Amino acid sequence: MAIQKIVLYGSETLRTPSKEAHKVSAKIKKLVEDMYDTMYANNGVGLAAPQIGANYRIFIIDTALEKQKPNPITFINPKIIKKWGAINSYEGCLSFPGVYIYVRRYENVIIRAMDIKGRTFTLEANDGNLIARALQHEYDHLDGTVFVDHARNRFETDQILAEKGLPQINPDYLMEEQELEIQIQEYEKINPPEPVQEIEQKEQGTL
Ligand SMILES: [Zn+2]
Repeated sequence: MAIQKIVLYGSETLRTPSKEAHKVSAKIKKLVEDMYDTMYANNGVGLAAPQIGANYRIFIIDTALEKQKPNPITFINPKIIKKWGAINSYEGCLSFPGVYIYVRRYENVIIRAMDIKGRTFTLEANDGNLIARALQHEYDHLDGTVFVDHARNRFETDQILAEKGLPQINPDYLMEEQELEIQIQEYEKINPPEPVQEIEQKEQGTL
């Protein structure tokens, strides 16, 4: 068991695109073990390899709530096959301690990846549930993208980052998401966003 130090926003490691793992070697298995140890030790629901300093295309999630049975899923060399619909997602990230913001996400995702035994599997997550959002958040880490690049309110996010002593949003990395934004605005006409204070009271997953 080895809990690793989490790489924080501002480090180049989080901006470096990761490379594929050629096979599930002993080294990769050890890396994945360390990722689980580190994620659980920090009460995270997802973690990508670059967050512990390894630029491999690997991430893990466990979106089970505290009283539920653990549900760890390992994604090696994942590919998002399809994504559609739009939602507002209230997220945090272990590499951004204390930062919770709204980001734009797809509502539904289909992903294909290899598991720890090297077998290919496909997973579909819908309705903007925690799995759907976690998949997109972690997948981004493998491309050197972080959640603040999807911020719905850039100025508010910069203010929160400053409060937490983290670097400001880098405009070079901001995602162009005009279409998602339009879809979200339509969605919000029917489903107004919950006040932030109410969300914070719920059990919140940090990705
Ligand atoms: Zn993250």
